[in-house]
Amino acid sequence: MTFRELNLKDEILSAIEELGYENPMPVQEQSIPFMLEKTADLVALAQTGTGKTAAFGLPVLNLIDAQRKEVQALVLAPTRELCIQISNDLKNYSKNMRGMRVVPVYGGEDIRTQLRQLDTAPQIIVATPGRLIDLIERGKIELGAINFLVLDEADEMLNMGFKEDIETILERTPDTRRTMLFSATMPKEIANIAKRYMKNYEEITVGVKNSGNENVEHIYYVSQARQRYMVLKRIVDLNPDIYGIVFCRTRQETKEVADKLMHDGYNADALHGDLSQAQRDNVMQKFRIRNIQLLVATDVAARGLDVNDLTHVINYNLPDDVEIYTHRSGRTGRANKKGIAVSIIHSKERFKIKDIERMLKRQFTQEQIPNGLEVCKKQLFFLIDRMENVDVNEEQILPYMAQIMKQLEYLSKEEILKRFVSLEFNRFLSYYKNAEDLNIPEGNTRERGERGDRGDRNERGPKPAGRIRLKMNVGEREGIDAKRFLGIINDVTGDKSISIGAIEVTNKFTFFDVFADQVDKVMAAFTGDTDLEVSEAKGSKSFEGGASRKPEYRARTSSGGDSRGGGYRGGDRASSRPAASAGGEKPWRNRELGDRNSRPSGGGSSDRRIGGYKKRY
Ligand code: AMP
Repeated sequence: MTFRELNLKDEILSAIEELGYENPMPVQEQSIPFMLEKTADLVALAQTGTGKTAAFGLPVLNLIDAQRKEVQALVLAPTRELCIQISNDLKNYSKNMRGMRVVPVYGGEDIRTQLRQLDTAPQIIVATPGRLIDLIERGKIELGAINFLVLDEADEMLNMGFKEDIETILERTPDTRRTMLFSATMPKEIANIAKRYMKNYEEITVGVKNSGNENVEHIYYVSQARQRYMVLKRIVDLNPDIYGIVFCRTRQETKEVADKLMHDGYNADALHGDLSQAQRDNVMQKFRIRNIQLLVATDVAARGLDVNDLTHVINYNLPDDVEIYTHRSGRTGRANKKGIAVSIIHSKERFKIKDIERMLKRQFTQEQIPNGLEVCKKQLFFLIDRMENVDVNEEQILPYMAQIMKQLEYLSKEEILKRFVSLEFNRFLSYYKNAEDLNIPEGNTRERGERGDRGDRNERGPKPAGRIRLKMNVGEREGIDAKRFLGIINDVTGDKSISIGAIEVTNKFTFFDVFADQVDKVMAAFTGDTDLEVSEAKGSKSFEGGASRKPEYRARTSSGGDSRGGGYRGGDRASSRPAASAGGEKPWRNRELGDRNSRPSGGGSSDRRIGGYKKRY
């Protein structure tokens, strides 16, 4: 089917052609003729990424009168990000329609800017419920001429506590309006809203209800809880071109995982509710333009982040709820692209996988956690592929070529390649040389020494000797956390070979493990003119009961890439991240760091959540 067959106006057809849309997506095939040819309301079960904005946007644009300077269509969405996204899409679809104005209004932005935009007499308003009510009460928006009302991501709006606001808005619009309700899921509350406020509506479903998107492959790795982070690194290293979201359960976990990834040289950042709106916008924007490869996020914070070409969604922990899993995994495999949803699970969580399989009617595949060799091979050939396909800047390289050829003339092609690969790859190879097998041996359901998720502590079982536990005379009360502590080590020792094992920060002290042969180096570095003291901790028993063959932390250099446990950082992709203690600041001298570091709480509309999810395990 073509868009032309759907009888849309020429101005709309030309705009979507310019956007590169060739054929309508399934939800559009169903909703556009329905809206153009019938008069009933519509309930559509469709997830984000299925093309639903055009599914309601195109027929609504087709049906409203651009010459009438009244608000004729209202779109309600749960978050400001989604509002902006929808409004931009509608502006794109209507860019050839003279006189058509679309204005987004949402919380978290100065209302005066929005008031000015409303003065331009828009025909379409895209709004978050709270801000809309505010503007209605100020007499700035009049809903008396509304012909079309769209409730987008209705289930999310209810989850975020907007039920009453939505009902207030519905009651303020004329009974003659047509209503379109879009929702990824159909909990009872949504069915109730439909029953109460929509007239003889028809229901369309894209795909099967609660079913996983066909384009998404679901895989999982069974890991010991304490090795979750290591497994995450392996997954990321096995997919050098990854562009994905790592979902964590809590803000704290989000921060910790993101900090560790950044410290290890990955191109990652955190998105959680402790960030201010401006900080969230900044992180999301960096992610959208792919300055960040891995976004570590909580479910709430990631709402409204609309990115279509994610390669992976990673569940660092399985969510407690199948619907959240569906939402998370629905963020990949969009717009007809393939995506992979990865879960790192604990052996006791297999039953959760079974539950999700049943609900989604999709088969999950358990994969073995890749070993060092597999990861290295993948990374190496990624590097070789990039070399093969790199754009060679003939013009600028030419002047040096003669000299380069001369300098290397005694080397064979094979020798040159070996050296090139070694130059780019040695660190990576040595990191993975003795990488341990992270798979749980078959038949072993009891996981060795497992005590929660802190992979760096209390590991039982054989360990080579060699770690000594040291103590530094600063702790939480000086604003120290693991990241800042590593910054201190880096700054004071200036030695990137120092390998720090487990770190424990108490109120007054920071305890940490160092390989025995590096203890003197560390102690010597702290005997100068710093007010920091490092001494052997009582008993000198390391957290790990011996040496860890795979230290998690390593001092980093200013290049930002050296501390990466694994992973070749493609030069053109890697963002230049400041080292843990950036800017030459001496964090241990600053008693206010703790406060300075604590961010104002988000407080934006996207954090208003009171409802709970239904289908728990
Ligand atoms: P949505 O579900 O509205 O967020 O749309 C998901 C993505 O698909 C967006 O990037 C749209 O621009 C894109 N899209 C929507 N309709 C089409 C279409 N018919 N052909 C190609 N891309 C589309």
